Amino acid sequence: MKKIACPICGKPPSDTHKPFCGQGCRDRDLLQWLGEGYRIPAGPADPEAENDAQTGLDTADNDD
Ligand SMILES: [Zn+2]
Repeated sequence: MKKIACPICGKPPSDTHKPFCGQGCRDRDLLQWLGEGYRIPAGPADPEAENDAQTGLDTADNDD
């Protein structure tokens, strides 16, 4: 018998989600299956948007 590991992250698989370790890796594999060009909504945030949020924090700090 071979040792099975999650093909996504290499962790020991869960009995419910094998051969994956959990729902997260299972979804990931499924997305890869559906299409290589599939874009995950939770991608990298816009750098400009992040900058804007930091500016807001700075303003609050200056209140002192
Ligand atoms: Zn995994």
